[in-house]
Amino acid sequence: MTTKNKLLIRGGQVYDHDGDIHHPRVADVLIADGRIAAVGASLTADGEHEIIDASGRLVVPGLINAHYHSHDTLCRGLFEELPLEMWLLYTLPMGQNRSREEVRARTLVGALESLRCGITTVQDMLGLTPLNNEYTDIVLSAYRESGIRLVFSPMVSDVPPIAMVRHKDILPADIQDMLGTKALPLRAQLDYLEHQFKHRPAGGTLHWAIAPFAPQRCTPKMLEALAGLADRHDLPVYTHVYETRGQALIARELFADHGGSLITYLENTGMLGPRLNIVHSVWISRAEMDRMASAGAGIVLNHLSNLKLKSGIAPVCDLREAGVRLGLGCDNCSGSDVQSVFQAMKMFCLLAAVSEPEPGPGLAHEVLRHATLGNARTAGLDGELGAIRPGYRADLILIDLNDVAYLPFNSAARQLVYTEAGRGVETVIVEGRVVIRERRVTTIDEDALRREVASLMRHFIADYDAVVESRKRAIAHMLEAHRRVWQADVGMNRFIARTR
Ligand SMILES: [Zn+2]
Repeated sequence: MTTKNKLLIRGGQVYDHDGDIHHPRVADVLIADGRIAAVGASLTADGEHEIIDASGRLVVPGLINAHYHSHDTLCRGLFEELPLEMWLLYTLPMGQNRSREEVRARTLVGALESLRCGITTVQDMLGLTPLNNEYTDIVLSAYRESGIRLVFSPMVSDVPPIAMVRHKDILPADIQDMLGTKALPLRAQLDYLEHQFKHRPAGGTLHWAIAPFAPQRCTPKMLEALAGLADRHDLPVYTHVYETRGQALIARELFADHGGSLITYLENTGMLGPRLNIVHSVWISRAEMDRMASAGAGIVLNHLSNLKLKSGIAPVCDLREAGVRLGLGCDNCSGSDVQSVFQAMKMFCLLAAVSEPEPGPGLAHEVLRHATLGNARTAGLDGELGAIRPGYRADLILIDLNDVAYLPFNSAARQLVYTEAGRGVETVIVEGRVVIRERRVTTIDEDALRREVASLMRHFIADYDAVVESRKRAIAHMLEAHRRVWQADVGMNRFIARTR
């Protein structure tokens, strides 16, 4: 860990969104007290500066992951493709009521993976069960220990999880119970949030956000209260909207009072505005996109999990045309199964490419903006994060241009998006603190964490096996509900790669 609060990053090619995106100019970056003090040629340092030689390195704004859940990090690699509603049968119980040791370890694993992949800020929309101060402390102290920047939003909802399933009534009672037929009272959850904002104020690398789980999982009263809370505390809001076809069907059939639209429901409860970010929006209509754009609301795309969980393909070209502000996320560790903004950026460009037959504008440069400036905007941190400019917080990464991904080096923007697998990430700085130095993590003991996880996994896998066994009877019923959803017409298609 660096003991000095001043850094001089000397002689790197500094990526500037508005400069030469293919061959960024060589410059020095001066950092003081966690912020970028100056960017320019031949900056001078005094004896108080630690100097990092960045020659042969690309200096890039720290990547931001605008959608993540740390609660199922240990489920990585346990599943292949499954429809979201069926995947929940396994992933929900494996994230709830776990031991303190496991919660700490899983938080650190996610933070470590993120940092190693050049992510300096993570938005953790955490399903925290139990939702209490003790568990909140465990999570926050693990993040603090890792050194990553956190936009923290424990999820709240006052409608039980089973509300995520259309045709839930055809499921036997015990299978409904598996998905969850209980919710915490509204008041207790609001009190919990108020308590956190008051007793653990944002500062340094901690930022707060508000996360109603999803509109269909919140009563109008809850959404109204949360909109008021966001206003009073000046906080951003993230919520899952239109992730699956089933959710579009729920909107059409169960929210007819709101025109069959979850966006209208959000609007009617005071949620639709510049603070709002909806996550996924695979099944959003063009008219809804236009309303999102004119309200200044944003969309966080998660193509990786949307594909793996069979949710569909978010209409990225239409979203760009509508002018909605965009961000990117990597989503659950058991749904994608990686915390890599590089993969998310590449997927954005590839899906946009295949959706238009004619040559389009190159999007590498644009998606780098979404993953940095756009994601900062989702958290209300525009002007603070996402670029290497004087006054911005000093969150940045050094990429080793000796990696074969840059042999030859033709374009910084294109090779970061299309070629970089994370291997090139060499040094990671958050709030002016070096958390990875020349590929060594300075903040946490990686080997100790590895041993701890190995020991925890014995119990975890035994629990998981028991969950799998208990869910066997649910599969046929869930499949029936799923098929009914597929047979219904929701007025749009978000799947390709079929001839029919
Ligand atoms: Zn999510």
